[in-house]
Amino acid sequence: MGVRIVGGGLAGSEAAWQAASRGVRVTLHEMRPVRPTAVHKTDRLAELVCSNSFRGDKLDNAVGLLKEEMRRLGSLVMRAAEESRVPAGAALAVDRERFAGLITQALSEHPLVTIVREEVASIPASSDNEPVIIATGPLTSDALSAQLASIVGQDHLYFYDAISPIVLAETIDREKVFRASRWDRSLRRTVKGAGVLGATVQGATVQGAACGVDDGQGDYLNCPMTRDEYERFYAALVAAESATVHDFDRERFFEGCLPIEVMAHRGHDTLRFGPMKPVGLVDPRTGREPYAAVQLRQDNLAGDHFSLVGFQTQIKWGDQARVLRMIPGLENAEFVRFGMVHRNTYVNGPTVLAETWQVRARPSLFFAGQMSGVEGYVESAASGLLAGMNAALLARGEHVSALPRTTAIGALAYYVSHANPAHYEPSNITFGIMQPLDRPPKGKKLRNEALSARALVDLERWMASRPEPQAATRDEKSSNGEAVVVEGSASR
Ligand SMILES: Cc1cc2nc3c(=O)[nH]c(=O)nc-3n(C[C@H](O)[C@H](O)[C@H](O)COP(=O)(O)OP(=O)(O)OC[C@H]3O[C@@H](n4cnc5c(N)ncnc54)[C@H](O)[C@@H]3O)c2cc1C
Repeated sequence: MGVRIVGGGLAGSEAAWQAASRGVRVTLHEMRPVRPTAVHKTDRLAELVCSNSFRGDKLDNAVGLLKEEMRRLGSLVMRAAEESRVPAGAALAVDRERFAGLITQALSEHPLVTIVREEVASIPASSDNEPVIIATGPLTSDALSAQLASIVGQDHLYFYDAISPIVLAETIDREKVFRASRWDRSLRRTVKGAGVLGATVQGATVQGAACGVDDGQGDYLNCPMTRDEYERFYAALVAAESATVHDFDRERFFEGCLPIEVMAHRGHDTLRFGPMKPVGLVDPRTGREPYAAVQLRQDNLAGDHFSLVGFQTQIKWGDQARVLRMIPGLENAEFVRFGMVHRNTYVNGPTVLAETWQVRARPSLFFAGQMSGVEGYVESAASGLLAGMNAALLARGEHVSALPRTTAIGALAYYVSHANPAHYEPSNITFGIMQPLDRPPKGKKLRNEALSARALVDLERWMASRPEPQAATRDEKSSNGEAVVVEGSASR
């Protein structure tokens, strides 16, 4: 009986901790430092590849709720984050070296965890007794990516992310934008049978999916531009500073997903024939098509996020905010997410995964982390938490389970396994993907707090209904170093 985990990042490390805490032996394969990735810099487990922030830490914020749920479920990532916390206002930010050091130490010292430093080039054999978790992240090595494609199907594995910026709806100036779809086409809001999230994401990712076109699948807010406004925007765009990119990012852009600055460098009017095309968009205030237009598409069910259609970009975030705020209607926009283009290996979750993070066609195999189709450090670790817990239960011959959809972790799992596969894109946790309240209080803050309060009550209920073995701690080691597993009490 044992769990094999491939990838010692945020998800794999959390999964290893959860499985070992349930008294199951874990073998964790991490290819660094034997085989480095293009962005990791150290040999530590759970290295943060970019920002040092785990984002908001309050319960009126969905990622704050996700973190609180993880704490209650005994997350190692959350414990290490607390112990390496640095001042960051309402956010949880960490000293990255200390954070990764604490995780590496905790797992290295755990009596049930063996860390093997090697690249796993093919998916290991798995069985109910010996489940396997693949948590190799956005930079999954080439050999393993090829194997994954053969398991999930080439069409369900993506290799690059071209992400458009997202703005907070309430910061869009409604006096300046107008609502319309190109040519007044009738709008297809939700694909029938596609689950609750049919209309939430844009088809901005690779493999033939066209980016930056109004595909008639939603309502749009249109930011009209005069010729003068376009000229000023264009000049600022071509002068903006691009983020440092890695060669793989630069070399292999998909023609249908070019960053806006690359398009702008191709010619003065390239954008006006691409994502800023005004044809078919008549501004009701002038009765005419504007010189250029930027379209904003609703990005979540709650309607509080709008993405800039076709505006994938790798301009540095400071410059990005400055340039995008030149778009009429976005002068005071707050960005929920900036645009970026980077390598990102992930599966089309809804076609491949169950809510338990098991591969539907092979339940002894789990996917976790970014490659399972979630986005972000915390979300990756949260999926690892559930995958590790369930893999351990499976190995012990017990029932696997999913969390209630009213919890943030449960909602994330539901999104990954039930979103519309036609336009699937990894998602951060947002209140927009959580089951709405029957009688929501008025006001966003109160509503969010009520969602969090319900989530934590439901989580506690779920935990109380599941007696689990307590984590084997170092104090409980027997004289020969073997862990003593204490049965019967809930693990928190
Ligand atoms: C350039 C870039 C910047 C990002 N910036 C942010 C950010 O600022 N904030 C944020 O929240 N998210 C960011 N992300 C997303 C981020 O990668 C994920 O949120 C998070 O790291 C995913 O965790 P993970 O465990 O799935 O993958 P990782 O943390 O990447 O861990 C995967 C591990 O698997 C190992 N591995 C890969 N292939 C193999 C193999 N075949 N055999 C053995 N080991 C293997 C890797 O070495 C790595 O250690 C960024 C991603 C990229 C690519």
